[in-house]
Amino acid sequence: MPTVNENFLKLEKNYLFINIAKKVKAFTAAHPDADIIRMGIGDVTLPIAPVVIDAMKKGADEMGVKETFKGYEDSGAGYDFLRNAVSDYYKSFGVDVLPEEIRINDGAKSDCGNIVDIFGNDNTVLITDPAYPVYVDTNKMNGRNVIYADSNEENGFAAMPDFNVHADIIYLCSPNNPTGSVYTKQQLKVWIDYALKNNAVIIFDSAYEAFITQPELPRSIFAIEGAKKCAIEMCSLSKTAGFTGMRCGYTVIPSGLTFKASDGSDVSIAQLWGRRQGSKFNGVSYPVQCAAAAVFTEEGQKQIHKNIEYYQENARIISSTMEKLGIKYTGGINSPYIWFKCPNNMGSWDFFDLMLSKIEVVGTPGQGFGKNGDGWFRLTAFGDRDKTIEAMQRFEKLVAEIK
Ligand code: PLP
Repeated sequence: MPTVNENFLKLEKNYLFINIAKKVKAFTAAHPDADIIRMGIGDVTLPIAPVVIDAMKKGADEMGVKETFKGYEDSGAGYDFLRNAVSDYYKSFGVDVLPEEIRINDGAKSDCGNIVDIFGNDNTVLITDPAYPVYVDTNKMNGRNVIYADSNEENGFAAMPDFNVHADIIYLCSPNNPTGSVYTKQQLKVWIDYALKNNAVIIFDSAYEAFITQPELPRSIFAIEGAKKCAIEMCSLSKTAGFTGMRCGYTVIPSGLTFKASDGSDVSIAQLWGRRQGSKFNGVSYPVQCAAAAVFTEEGQKQIHKNIEYYQENARIISSTMEKLGIKYTGGINSPYIWFKCPNNMGSWDFFDLMLSKIEVVGTPGQGFGKNGDGWFRLTAFGDRDKTIEAMQRFEKLVAEIK
């Protein structure tokens, strides 16, 4: 009989969004006529840009012709045309990343979760709290010691390191899911100094970089000096270009990033990750890589930014409602998420139940992202415009009723 990985038994029973889905399902079963507006799960709703779809169709057509058919891709790291396009994209906002430092993947979740494979289980892992649940779950699955850096109202939900505490692996996400806060260049420099002092690696999740509107804010950790000596960056086309159902992202590992093995030898992290991927991942489909490359063309950027602006306007509608009601919030400006304090100091699951039962609006309870999320709540701007407006009208009425 196989033994099981009992670390899994110590995890929260269900992934956050499954818990929410269950509650919503029970509510709809009891109220079949309910007009529910979903602002919980961070999934996009607008269709993929035409230029991207055309590129995918062209790629699919090539697969049906002997001369252009593609089987396994040699490197498994992505076609050169896409790695070059990503490298040029980084250049467009002033960051130097070489094509060979980029690996194409099927979205940021896989790499965020799988990167744990190449680091020992005896590492201490530092995660900002609240956080995207994948960081905590995937480390706990391997029995790692996870410690937290508090993001809270006092620090504007931008946790900073405590130089008296040691960590080996650090997860940062900016713009942040769930809080929408964005680290400044100065704040990221402090994290890099902390990582270098501790000989630690930073896993930097920039899945929402395309939502940054303030040009002084960094869209990549590699915009900051020293990052190439300590950081890995993971990005995704899911929210940038509507690829949640298409699946494509990329991870950047600097060529010179090394750590010591127990025998004192230098180990290249890019090589180790390449070795891991070589055994466990066979690359992203050719048509999807064609589609992804189209995102980075001039026309692609124009078209995807139209969608991003639509979501940004939704975010403005939500934020201005919070302002009007005097509710504290973060996010919304450089992020598709609005993170607000539950009225009347309610707990976040209580507020979830109240919103669902009274106004039939679904959001995400902050507590699901970590202990500092209790009393806070996340709404997403990825919905339909009219429904976002309607949800905010219902929200205003609810707040007026309970105040
Ligand atoms: N990172 C963050 C912070 C996210 O919020 C998400 C998705 O919601 C992901 C990564 C994963 O995105 P995907 O796997 O769709 O690229």
